[in-house]
Amino acid sequence: MKKRRNTKTVKVGNIKIGGMNDIVIQTMTTSKTKNISETVSQINTYATAGAKIVRLAILDKEDAYAIKEIVQQVTVPLVADIHFDYRLALICIKNGIDKIRINPGNIGSEEKIKKVVDACKLKNIPIRIGINGGSLEKDIIEKYGVTSKGMLESAKYHVRLLEKLDFYNILLSLKSSDISKTVEAYLAASKEFDYPLHLGVTEAGTLFGGTIRSSIGLGILLYEGIGDTIRVSLSADPIEEVKVAKELLSSLGLYNKPKIISCPTCGRIQYNMFNLVNKVEAYLESKDYDITVAVMGCAVNGPGEAKAADIGIAGGKGEGLIFVNGKIKRKVQEEYMFDELISEINDFVKSRKLN
Ligand code: SF4
Repeated sequence: MKKRRNTKTVKVGNIKIGGMNDIVIQTMTTSKTKNISETVSQINTYATAGAKIVRLAILDKEDAYAIKEIVQQVTVPLVADIHFDYRLALICIKNGIDKIRINPGNIGSEEKIKKVVDACKLKNIPIRIGINGGSLEKDIIEKYGVTSKGMLESAKYHVRLLEKLDFYNILLSLKSSDISKTVEAYLAASKEFDYPLHLGVTEAGTLFGGTIRSSIGLGILLYEGIGDTIRVSLSADPIEEVKVAKELLSSLGLYNKPKIISCPTCGRIQYNMFNLVNKVEAYLESKDYDITVAVMGCAVNGPGEAKAADIGIAGGKGEGLIFVNGKIKRKVQEEYMFDELISEINDFVKSRKLN
């Protein structure tokens, strides 16, 4: 993987984005923000799942005023997603929001933009400019079409509006539903700006298709050292967005979570391995262990194929072999495989902490 590109650091509540800080996982609520109890419950659920920042859609004044109560009941910083209406931004800022997503070019007169900028300056609140391939400015489309070049030009236009007012507390996203355009736009933006980049493929699709598309698009960029915060957009429960983001970052060594190695199984399998590996995955989901666990289909190739794991199990007919650091430790009966493997994992984590 290439060296991480250094960007400016911005602060969203107590979370730092950019520079050499960890890449921050975000998601977005699906509730009506004015439905305070539902919104709070969603935010807390996503935070427990691993989201470090949560964004809310602000459609009207009621949504904006709800921020005041919501911020008091959650622990993660919140972002207000606003289109066009600068007054909503001002209400959110006044009521304790930590970041605003609004495109200055859509706000209207310079006077209105200045009002938002001044309010943000006063509270040290950053603004994310969110370029979306599907809603570029008319004149830009006429000149460049809906292209990555057009997306970059749009970003430049919006950035200029803020910089003109001496505002530099900026993050940028350049999302398209087309993966190539998304990647090209971010590559170009990373050369043009040193503001932190918020990565995403917009309208990526369903849990299955969207995960693949986001992984390709975001994976290429992250591999290039580009990206400071990510949101995986899926037509699915936001918890899934968080899970996919964690797995994506972890696959590139950018996030610490337990890794599971498992074989695809073949004709040598003699036990219900899928059931075991799914249970192990569910158990490790909420753990922050830095451990690699292998769940293998047989003892013929299993231990060898899973040498990279700290702990593994290779199942056979009615029993399984547990191995630690590549060496067989003991035999367990099939019905106890899950419990015994988990107990070995916990012992391993404990002993590593002691050493
Ligand atoms: S570990 Fe065993 S069951 Fe799994 S793919 Fe390899 S040979 Fe087949």
